[in-house]
Amino acid sequence: MRHDDAPPRGDAPPLTQAPQGDAPPAVRPAALPNDISRMSAYCTYCPKMCRFSCPASAAESRETVTPWGMMRLLELTRDQSVAISPEVAETFYHCTGCRRCQAFCRHDNDVPRALWSAREQTAEAGLIPASLTPLRESFAAHSRPHADPVDWRPDPEVFDAESTVGFWPDCDTLTSNPTLIDRLGRLLHRLLGQKVRLIGTGPDHLPVCCGFPLGATGDRPALDHHLNERWPSLDGLTDLYTDCPALRAWADPGSSWPELSHGDPERLKPTHLVEVLADAVSQNPPPEKLDLSALLVHHSCMMTRQAPLAGPSLKLLRALGSGEPSAMMFDGVEAECCGGQAVYRALEPDAARRQATRVAEQLHDHPTATRQVSTAATCACALGEAREDLDITSLLELVCETYSL
Ligand code: SF4
Ligand code: SF4
Repeated sequence: MRHDDAPPRGDAPPLTQAPQGDAPPAVRPAALPNDISRMSAYCTYCPKMCRFSCPASAAESRETVTPWGMMRLLELTRDQSVAISPEVAETFYHCTGCRRCQAFCRHDNDVPRALWSAREQTAEAGLIPASLTPLRESFAAHSRPHADPVDWRPDPEVFDAESTVGFWPDCDTLTSNPTLIDRLGRLLHRLLGQKVRLIGTGPDHLPVCCGFPLGATGDRPALDHHLNERWPSLDGLTDLYTDCPALRAWADPGSSWPELSHGDPERLKPTHLVEVLADAVSQNPPPEKLDLSALLVHHSCMMTRQAPLAGPSLKLLRALGSGEPSAMMFDGVEAECCGGQAVYRALEPDAARRQATRVAEQLHDHPTATRQVSTAATCACALGEAREDLDITSLLELVCETYSL
């Protein structure tokens, strides 16, 4: 990997902080886009049909953080019955963006889209919750949500800085399982017949984050700065592959936030590795077939409801072995959220862990499955940390294992 290709490192904009003191200012909201006003009005008159579906309300057992509660509060700020105080602003952050409520909503309400918009308004007023300050500071310093130092450096034998095929790793892979990045590089070389270029060179010469968690804080100036100044160069690439569900979903026109990442229509759109590998593994199967019947599959929210990747994920898994993996209680478009999204974990670490524990324990309670496979590194990481005694892995780790990489 080249170390001289770092992107321009403009100074990050200063962090705005929630006001301290006894009398925080209350803010009158700006007008919301019409579709969001319609959504909040629908929720107001709804008998909370989606209440049971929300990971945050399940983990926190609070009416305020149900989809209905958050949208009702948005409606009350919209009609100016309630001013946006720090407490009101904080409530808008109790959504992981999983879109599970939408799967049960007769109005097809895209609650994350509405709440991300509300967050931008609260951020403009300087009301981003203080619990997100470390994450924002980490972005300003390292261009990633995690400040923890990473000792790993990429194997120079694996990657080719001149390749026209790029691989941009997920931050959670980098932080929790960095050697998987080398293994995935080797896998791609083996299955595609060419080395790939490692993308995302940050100040410490390691991959940077795409910026999705920063977008989830509502801090639009910081996000724009990240997208314009911290994004790596994609010049010369014909293809961009990633194992980051957020990067792939964010660029999907059907996601909740397409306008945030579509500022530059010329920017190369990422393809998720499961989309590439589903065919490649079918054409070049592993030497020994995996017994799929021992596996319980967890579908990431980002790879079901934010981007249509559940099909390619299952196709990839089935290409690895024989038998049929077990489905979780709510499979496919109703798959449960593990609560592992970076911003929610920073905001409510105990609740996020409770939710991850609940989802992980479906393996504990399953009569035959002995291993849980999540389609995303973020979820596998959250589930594995919640129940360290259980055998939980990510789909791409499993692929590398099956090829003995
Ligand atoms: S998102 Fe849909 S189901 Fe949920 S409270 Fe709103 S209108 Fe009702
Ligand atoms: S998108 Fe997920 S976390 Fe957000 S309100 Fe809906 S169910 Fe809850």
